[in-house]
Amino acid sequence: MGDNLSLHDKSVQLKTLEEFNQTIKTNNKDIMEYIHIMEEHVFTTKTDKTGIIIDVTNSFCELTGFNKDELIGKTHTIIKHPDTKEIFFKKMWKTILNGDIWENDIKNLKKDGSTLWLHVVIFPRYAKNRRLIGFSSIRHNITTTKKLEQEAIHDVLTGLFNRRHYNKIITKELQRAKRGQASFTFVMMDIDYFKQYNDTYGHHKGDEALKTIAHLLTKKLSRGSDYCFRLGGEEFAFFFTGLTAEESIDYTKNICLEVEKLHINHIKNKVSKYLTASFGIVISDMQTSSYSEEFIYAASDKALYKAKKAGRNQVVMHIEK
Ligand code: GH3
Ligand code: MG
Ligand code: MG
Repeated sequence: MGDNLSLHDKSVQLKTLEEFNQTIKTNNKDIMEYIHIMEEHVFTTKTDKTGIIIDVTNSFCELTGFNKDELIGKTHTIIKHPDTKEIFFKKMWKTILNGDIWENDIKNLKKDGSTLWLHVVIFPRYAKNRRLIGFSSIRHNITTTKKLEQEAIHDVLTGLFNRRHYNKIITKELQRAKRGQASFTFVMMDIDYFKQYNDTYGHHKGDEALKTIAHLLTKKLSRGSDYCFRLGGEEFAFFFTGLTAEESIDYTKNICLEVEKLHINHIKNKVSKYLTASFGIVISDMQTSSYSEEFIYAASDKALYKAKKAGRNQVVMHIEK
């Protein structure tokens, strides 16, 4: 058929082919440029459907401090920060395995041990037959903003949440528990004879004791729905959900005992050789679902006052008369 083409037709055909080649070359160049930009400036990773990393960009390596060989074949656990709770990742997996896009801020660890906050978007990847084959992610470094945000809601000395954060989340968390028909236990805690502790051992030792106690609270309240705060001075608060009144008292009594078992010497404590604390509890459950944040605060404070009056180093629960 080609043989029947006129010279003019042939030259038109050749020209079209040349233009086509040129277009491919230009497109290829554009694609190569895009790939280069991605490699050097965009933090992306690609995994199989079990989360094993199969590709990362150079910029992601530079950001995390790991090289490609250290990342490929591993999971993102390699950059997991111990502060990020398992429940967080469980929810992520549920979303992406469902084929949905997942987006959130994640606290990570760089190879050098420093914190790296990333805003992450994870997309499912599919084969032609719509079978899920893995995931791609794109990340933005939000460490600076996040650090400022975190500083605003944490207590500098102990690292616990501060009163500002307490004010911000308490109503929301109380409502969340009500919606989920879960009991909500709120505990106010105050260290016993702490003024005497400072007077005896010095302010620096006092600070150390506050840090040790905060660490114990963090350890004892590590579930996704647990929260603890330093409300100010030597006063702490924490809440948890899903326990009955009896279980809540037992759990708090155990914390009371563990504070004493830290064996922080306190010779001026009139109730023990060691530093102790008193606790006031209030529980909001199906029977008391009308409890407001203000009521919970006032009632736990009153219960704490009773614990102090009754001899300290103990737990008192608010009882509705
Ligand atoms: P009580 O058993 O009745 O609670 O007596 P207390 O001495 O613990 O209570 P009081 O409210 O009289 O004293 C609290 C003390 O806590 C006063 C202050 O010296 C100490 N304190 C508050 N904030 C800090 C802090 O950040 N660091 C240190 N080291 N001490 C603090
Ligand atoms: Mg005190
Ligand atoms: Mg106090």
